[in-house]
Amino acid sequence: VIKVQVYFQEVTHTTTKRVDLVDLTDQVTGFVHACNVSAGICLIDSFHSTTAIVVNEHECGLMTDLLTKIQELFPRGRGWLHDRVDDNADAHLASMFLGHSTAFPIKDGQLCRGTWQNIFLVELDGPRTRRVLVEVLGTA
Ligand code: ZN
Repeated sequence: VIKVQVYFQEVTHTTTKRVDLVDLTDQVTGFVHACNVSAGICLIDSFHSTTAIVVNEHECGLMTDLLTKIQELFPRGRGWLHDRVDDNADAHLASMFLGHSTAFPIKDGQLCRGTWQNIFLVELDGPRTRRVLVEVLGTA
């Protein structure tokens, strides 16, 4: 019989710009270590329809490039129908294309990620307070 344990942690961030990146990697890896599971999976999930979760390198130029590309792909105020409701269709669209969650395997008690794979919350309609749920599911 394999006993699977489940742990949750909610991470809150107050963003300071309309479009921004928040690096969650240290919080996620810290939580994984605290859970003390040897093998399993870690899910990182945003609660919002105008944020996203992405994985890539924490390099300032690249982070700015990503935000530039998002705004190029999903320009604000180009007559999106949802803008009639609350003027943030661009943020919803980018969120849908980028996705609201990601997951990593846990092996030998460590989050299995590449050296350049940092985990980011993408703020698309800030500044606001945002909630991300980290779930660890695994065996001791
Ligand atoms: Zn909206």
